[in-house]
Amino acid sequence: MLTQAPRGTKDVLPTESYKWQYLEDKMRKAAAGAGYREVRTPVFEHTELFLRGVGDTTDIVQKEMYTFEDKGKRSITLKPEGTAGAVRAFLESNLYADALPCKMYYLAAPVFRYEAPQAGRLREHHQFGMECFGAKDATADAELILLAFHLLSSLGVKNLSVNINSIGCPNCRPVYNSALRTYLKEHLEELCPDCRNRYERNPLRVLDCKQLKCQEVVKEAPKLLDYLDDECREHFAQLQACLNASEIPFQVNPKIVRGLDYYTKTVFELITKTKDGNLTVCGGGRYDHLVEELGGPDLPAVGFGMGIERVLMLLDNEGVEIPRPRLLDVFVTYMGDHRLDAFELVQALRAQGLKADMDHCSRSLKAQFKFANKCASAVTATLGDDEVTQGVVKLRDMDTREEIIAKLSDAAAAVRSMLS
Ligand code: ATP
Ligand code: MG
Repeated sequence: MLTQAPRGTKDVLPTESYKWQYLEDKMRKAAAGAGYREVRTPVFEHTELFLRGVGDTTDIVQKEMYTFEDKGKRSITLKPEGTAGAVRAFLESNLYADALPCKMYYLAAPVFRYEAPQAGRLREHHQFGMECFGAKDATADAELILLAFHLLSSLGVKNLSVNINSIGCPNCRPVYNSALRTYLKEHLEELCPDCRNRYERNPLRVLDCKQLKCQEVVKEAPKLLDYLDDECREHFAQLQACLNASEIPFQVNPKIVRGLDYYTKTVFELITKTKDGNLTVCGGGRYDHLVEELGGPDLPAVGFGMGIERVLMLLDNEGVEIPRPRLLDVFVTYMGDHRLDAFELVQALRAQGLKADMDHCSRSLKAQFKFANKCASAVTATLGDDEVTQGVVKLRDMDTREEIIAKLSDAAAAVRSMLS
């Protein structure tokens, strides 16, 4: 128990954290390239925020939240998605008073959902997310879709399909919902128990149920796209015009409705095929009424969330090698009582920007070299009586075994020339 992480959580060990750093670096650069700045919000928020912000008919709120009462008797919930917290921060600091749109991203933010753990499904996962507040044009939706697509493609994710849909707005969706209910009413027996429940509360969600029998029923259901009002239809046309102009492959998929209540107009998912079926790696959409719903001004917004663990899983499946940075440039070994000389040299090399280390376990010289090898250090630097007296150091290229003698004061430059 003591040495076992809670079910559905995963450590990122020192041997693999470079993969996360690599992704984060690419994500940071992609977001910054489109004028987005980083936001960091707390891991927990008042439960009320998610009840209002995510919607109490959603799976997340009904089944998946980690909610508890704190010592001050407040109901607290660990973040089950990133958007509501970002909106809360945006409102609390009056960021809407600045020039709009306000563009922000979060990097590897932890997200908690009480789900049945399986491949690509954890109880704590991490999301890269982007949110754009105050932009109503479809160009904002399109730039997010393109950014996610290009990011994933450039990382090496293959067979990526971009699925877009429009789920209308509070003006046209109720008309559709009632048409859908009328249709579903004839098929209630064939639906799964969850969907029978959704039929009343949130019929749209029946469209993306993963149960085969529900999917059968949905095939003949009325299409939301036929019910869009003029504004929503025009917006969706604009989005497609942008995507066509940028020549990325995409498809209109009426089954994409997304799990969260707050979406309006655009919804999208980036889906890949794996040996176990389809996997959604990124999902997002427009939420034009959430800011107001949470007590702010009437302000449109659009965003997405991307699961980092799923990206890593896909890259792993594809056999994509993430470049592993060298652990050490130089390992300083020493003979006899020259420990302090070695220590000073390590500090000097580090101060020059090199990755340097030495033995901290009183090893023999032979064992120090063995350890340097284990660390895959590119170079070893050795200090013995002769070297210390003459103010020099013996450098060895660990690949070629070539050795040179360098002045102590030139050690960093000499190591650097051996690295290139
Ligand atoms: P799914 O349909 O797979 O449950 P979702 O619609 O619940 O996904 P979102 O709320 O849109 O997912 O979250 C955005 C992204 O976060 C997903 O596309 C996915 O990459 C990732 N994600 C969601 N839930 C999990 C989880 N339990 N474990 C790992 N990654 C997840
Ligand atoms: Mg889910």
